[in-house]
Amino acid sequence: MNSDELLHQLAKLAPLALGQLPTPLHALTGLSATLQGPEIWIKRDDLTGLGMGGNKVRKLAFLLAEALRGEADVVMTTGARQSNHARQTAAAAARAGLPCVLVLAGEALSAPPTGNHLLDRLFGAEVRWAGDRDPLEALVAEAEALRESGRHPYVIPYGGSNAVGVCGFVAAMVELHQQATVQELAFTDIVLASSSGGTQAGLALGAHLLAHPARIVGISIAEEASALRRQLSALASATANLLEIPTSLATEDFTVTDAYLGGGYGVVGEPEREALQLLARTEGLLVDPVYTGRALGGLIDLIRQGTFTAGDRVLFWHTGGSPALFAYGEELGV
Ligand SMILES: *Cc1c(COP(=O)(O)O)cnc(C)c1O
Repeated sequence: MNSDELLHQLAKLAPLALGQLPTPLHALTGLSATLQGPEIWIKRDDLTGLGMGGNKVRKLAFLLAEALRGEADVVMTTGARQSNHARQTAAAAARAGLPCVLVLAGEALSAPPTGNHLLDRLFGAEVRWAGDRDPLEALVAEAEALRESGRHPYVIPYGGSNAVGVCGFVAAMVELHQQATVQELAFTDIVLASSSGGTQAGLALGAHLLAHPARIVGISIAEEASALRRQLSALASATANLLEIPTSLATEDFTVTDAYLGGGYGVVGEPEREALQLLARTEGLLVDPVYTGRALGGLIDLIRQGTFTAGDRVLFWHTGGSPALFAYGEELGV
């Protein structure tokens, strides 16, 4: 399948123009020189624009198009207190002219909101707390209550990762493929933070359909590799089905490492601290403490272990998240 054929299938879902695309693609010469391993490049999805950017903007372009088609009158999703996905959903809903209800994990705090949560409020989202409920179950219950009161909620799952959202990253792979072709760049590997799986599933499906040669390496943020691979395979296959393309990807078609889970989700350790400081001090660029800091820490470790070497050209796909930095002042050790 070529890029035009794939774009034609994606266009049938009529995504909204939410992001500033294509995002920049550039070399990290300072970081590459410091690590003395492969040539490292970066794909700047921290610069998708809307609501301080990030990878969810690409998924939300497809998701909110579906919400508007279905005449939803409120958008709902869930996540952690510092969820980047929730913040980008709040911004996207504002842009689409829809109210937004966020069901966030945990309890209300008395301290003023910070980081992503501050931005949720600026974008006008209504925040409800899951408290001791499972956040996903709380979301389903809150949506049901809204339906009973006559509203039409459009409910977006964790991370915007369903077949509709994943289309945003199939399109992103077409975008990268075209940039790489024009700039005559061949990447051996693409490294990214992988959590709810939509980003990696979309990139892998897109690469498979375009016969793009780079190996896509997901650094798992919170899941064991086997569980994440099952999620990736299910998402990629459901997305192919939605796009009416007869293909599927099996669990073994995905490269995932769970070697960098550290102390668990959102727990900042030495690899994250080192990665954040190294990128800041060699490039003047920021990653976040939860996702991209962990993924870059993983990439640095894989280079030190010799997995990526001088002959390779590795692309670090920056998925955003830097607004969370301002909620992690104490943990960053600077
Ligand atoms: C959500 C998120 C990810 C993970 O993307 P998934 O599609 O959920 O795997 C990575 N980085 C950042 C900054 C994110 O907000």
